[in-house]
Amino acid sequence: MSKNDKLKPETILAFDTYKDQHGAVVPPLYQNSLFTFDSWDDIDKAFDNKYENYIYSRLLNPTVKIAEDKIAAICGGEKAKLVSSGIAAVTSAILHCVKANDHIVTIKNIYGPTNTFISTYLKNKFNITSTFIDGRDVQNFANAIQGNTALIYLESPASLTYDLQDLKAVADLAKSKGIKTAIDNTYSSPIFQKPLDLGIDIEVHSVSKYIGGHSDVVAGVIVSSKSIMDSIIGNEHELLGAKMAPFEGWLVLRSLRTLPIRMKAHQDNGMKIASYLESHHKIEKVFYPGLKSFPQYDLAQRQMSGSSGLLSFELKTKEIAKIKTFVDSLKMFKLGVSWGGHDSLIYAPVISYLKELTPDQFEGFGINPSILRISVGLEHWEDLREDLQRVLALI
Ligand SMILES: *Cc1c(COP(=O)(O)O)cnc(C)c1O
Repeated sequence: MSKNDKLKPETILAFDTYKDQHGAVVPPLYQNSLFTFDSWDDIDKAFDNKYENYIYSRLLNPTVKIAEDKIAAICGGEKAKLVSSGIAAVTSAILHCVKANDHIVTIKNIYGPTNTFISTYLKNKFNITSTFIDGRDVQNFANAIQGNTALIYLESPASLTYDLQDLKAVADLAKSKGIKTAIDNTYSSPIFQKPLDLGIDIEVHSVSKYIGGHSDVVAGVIVSSKSIMDSIIGNEHELLGAKMAPFEGWLVLRSLRTLPIRMKAHQDNGMKIASYLESHHKIEKVFYPGLKSFPQYDLAQRQMSGSSGLLSFELKTKEIAKIKTFVDSLKMFKLGVSWGGHDSLIYAPVISYLKELTPDQFEGFGINPSILRISVGLEHWEDLREDLQRVLALI
C-alpha cells in the first residue's frame, strides 16, 4: 500500500490498483486452497518468507490480502489480518498479549463473549486474572493496575450504553507502565475513530458490523504494527486457524468501497432518530455519543469524528408486556441480534443477556429491561421515524 500512503480513505477503499486480471475492474476471487510452483527451488524460496508469499490459503490469499492492505492503510496500521469472526479477532489479540498468571484490566460493560473469555476461559485455563472497571474515569485504570498486568483491553464506545474511555490518556498510562493496550473499535469503524493514532497498540473489529455492512458476512480484523502483527500471524492466526475464507474476503472488499459513504449515511440517520426519540415523552433516555446530552459528549467530539447509527434508548414504561408490544409491532426495524448493516434492526438486550450473564453482571452493564437497542440502517429516516411514532402511540 506504500504508494497509496498519501491518498484519502475514500480513495484507498474505492480505487483498486490490482493488475494481472485481463483488465477486469474488480479484483478476482482466488477460490483456491493452495498455490503451485514450477520447481523445488521456487517453493523452497517461497518458504523463506512463508507469511508474505502465496503458498496456502490458510496463511495468505490474494483476494483477502487486498482487503487487508486497504484496512491497514485506513486505520494507520502497518499490517492487518482478516479472520473468520469478530470474536476470533478479539481472542487472538488478547492471547497475543498475555501468558499464564498475568492480569488484564478491562471495562465492566464489555461485549458479552469477550467478558466470558477474559473472566472465565482465561481464568480457568491459564489462571489469568482480571479487573473489570468503570472505564469512564482514567483513574480507575491506574488504580486497577497490578505488578502482573499485561494488557488493558478497551471497547469505546462500549456495548449498549456507549460509555467512552479516554483512549489517549489510557494509552499514555499503559505505555508508562510497559503494558499493552488493545481496543474493540467496532462501533466507530475505522472511519470515525483512529485508536492507533492515539497510541493504542492493537485495534480489532467485528467486520460483521459496519465494515461488512450488508448483513451477509461474519468476519473480524486485527490491525497493528508490523512486529505485533507478525507475531499474531505466526502464532494465533496460523495455529488456531480462524482464517478468512476467500469469498468472504471478496465480499469485504466489495463492502469497503462504500464504507465511508455508508458511515456518513448511518450517522445522519442515527442523529435524526436519536433526536426524535429524545424529544418523545414516552422515552426516558437516549444513549448516543452524537447527542449534546451524552454525558461524555466533549470526549466523543475529541476522539471520534462521527457517531454511527447504533443507539439505545430507555422506554419510560417498565411493564414487560408493553415493552414486548413495542418491539413486536415495529415494521421497519427487524428483530434480531447484530447490527451495522443496511437494514434497521431492534434488539432487547434483556432477552439473551440474562441467559449469558449473572444478574450482577447484567446490572454492572448499567442497563435494565426497558433499554432497547436499534441499529439505524440506510432506509429513509422519515419512514423509520413514522414507524417508531406509530408504535410509541401503542404503549
Ligand atoms: C459483534 C461484536 C463482536 C463479535 O463479532 P462476531 O463477528 O460476531 O464474532 C465483538 N465486539 C463487538 C463490539 C461486537 O458488537
